[in-house]
Amino acid sequence: MGQQKSISLLVVLSSPSGGGKTTICKALVSRHPDFKKSLTASTRKPRTGEVNGVDYLFFSEPEFFKRVRNQEFLEYENIHGYYYGTPKAEVEKLLNEGFSVLFDIDVNGALSIKKIFPRAILIFIRPPSLEELKKRLLNRKTDDTEEISKRLKRLPEEFAKADQFDYDIINDSLEETIEKIYQIISKHQQQEIHATHQSTQK
Ligand code: ADP
Ligand code: 5GP
Repeated sequence: MGQQKSISLLVVLSSPSGGGKTTICKALVSRHPDFKKSLTASTRKPRTGEVNGVDYLFFSEPEFFKRVRNQEFLEYENIHGYYYGTPKAEVEKLLNEGFSVLFDIDVNGALSIKKIFPRAILIFIRPPSLEELKKRLLNRKTDDTEEISKRLKRLPEEFAKADQFDYDIINDSLEETIEKIYQIISKHQQQEIHATHQSTQK
């Protein structure tokens, strides 16, 4: 059983690869037990240290498309040559348990989630510079140079969609970024509590 909470938020973090989503999500979840990251599915191979069912649900393409045909995904996208999708059941489970849900998904997935849940809060995370982004991707040591250049090719499409997001944050100092996102979340929680209070007063 999950912890009960009256106001569940849906917070979507998107950024170019290496922008800091995974790191920020982990920090938010560890500091705020009322938040859980929605587990998503991918057809890419697990990186060293990644665990099936923890980091992703890793599927082969046939397994993934069986689930597409069964309409099991809220949204799915082809990103850097692999498929990624948000299973409906994962999100429903977290919301039913009273958690607020964090999504670490790409810009197109984020806009699809906003259509399904108009109250979802979309946060675009921007690296301080292209040079710094390349440095972080290299330091992460999870992708070879070919994979990194594939990821960088997607930057123009990602930056072009940032203006459709509710917030646009530069991830320079990690601690400051986490604090800014926490402040955004707190503001929305207060607004929803206020709106619920107003509607029960009528
Ligand atoms: P994403 O999930 O968006 O691909 P990650 O969270 O894996 O990005 O971050 C990419 C790399 O950059 C990781 O090695 C992470 O530790 C590092 N990183 C993230 N944010 C910062 C920051 N503000 N300053 C320095 N390094 C960072
Ligand atoms: P990575 O391979 O680096 O883990 O992720 C590549 C990209 O896929 C990231 O931008 C990540 O946010 C995105 N992603 C992960 N899961 C999903 C998902 O379910 N849907 C969509 N649209 N994007 C996802």
